[in-house]
Amino acid sequence: MTARATDFDSLDELGSGRFGVVDRVIHRDSGCLFARKRIRLSFDQQEHELQQREISVLKRTVECPFVVYFYGAMFHDGDIHILMELMDASLRQFYLAAYSSAVNMPITNPVLQYIAYSVLKALSYIRSIEVMHRDIKPSNMLINRSGQVKLCDFGVAGILKNSIAKSNVGCQLYVAPERVSISMATEGGLGAGDEPGFTTASDVWSLGISLLELASGAHPYGSWKNPFHQVQHLTEDPPPSLSAEAAAGRFPQELNDFLSCCLAKKAKDRWRLPQLLEHPYVGGVVAMETELRDRTGQFVCSVLDRCDSSSLAAVGVTVKE
Ligand code: ADP
Ligand code: MG
Repeated sequence: MTARATDFDSLDELGSGRFGVVDRVIHRDSGCLFARKRIRLSFDQQEHELQQREISVLKRTVECPFVVYFYGAMFHDGDIHILMELMDASLRQFYLAAYSSAVNMPITNPVLQYIAYSVLKALSYIRSIEVMHRDIKPSNMLINRSGQVKLCDFGVAGILKNSIAKSNVGCQLYVAPERVSISMATEGGLGAGDEPGFTTASDVWSLGISLLELASGAHPYGSWKNPFHQVQHLTEDPPPSLSAEAAAGRFPQELNDFLSCCLAKKAKDRWRLPQLLEHPYVGGVVAMETELRDRTGQFVCSVLDRCDSSSLAAVGVTVKE
């Protein structure tokens, strides 16, 4: 399909963030729906590079079913329009809806297993093309009614080959201990961590934190008073884990073990992606991938169907007819 930016009409907003807005659009001639991310072209060299990088990474991931499908990018009126497949919600929107008092359907073990597996597959794929995501968190994981789970938002992704990125990117609440000590060290604060810079291991930490959040319905740290508090918490305290109370009997012991493999405080002790894919918590998923995806899809439908449109709108989900 050759399309121009003006061939699409915006229907509603799906989310917004750092560089712009994502909305649901319809292609007028075909009636097909897409998600469109509009980014204001930056004249700042560093920002401009990140914007270009997002497109270049998306172009190289179209073969991976665990990364949101990219149709193309167009320039329009000083904006870049990135056209993607439309998903039903981010995992942040989804878990907020699932745990809300109106819906009250805590995420089940098979669903969490399938999410863990899908994100690991996405991370392994991008690792194979020498990319690290650097902003792994539930709002950058998307889900749909078929049960597919896909990674999105390569806006701050890094290329492994060129450098071990030292820049302080990503969301502070999901940042690995080695990254927080680096950013403090570069600002003349505390000493450097055990491993310099950003590696795929830092994405693994953020995955662990995200899964804890999805399993319990709340972020394990809540918030920090100030950056020193954050450094102290991340570097000195034991890593967070799933309390029996939060798990409420929904999850097996293997999940706790899996989380501790993702959340080893020293990056060098953290499990690598191939090891994690063999871990007992997700190792069995591959043999029953279709079944687990279907079960995830049924769960997604039940949650979204139980939400009235106003409670979904409160967490930023638009109900589709
Ligand atoms: P940002 O760089 O602003 O964080 P994202 O790519 O993460 O941009 O998109 C912001 C939000 O928009 C996501 O958290 C999600 O809620 C929504 N969104 C993004 N892409 C899609 C998509 N393909 N389908 C449905 N919703 C999406
Ligand atoms: Mg995002």
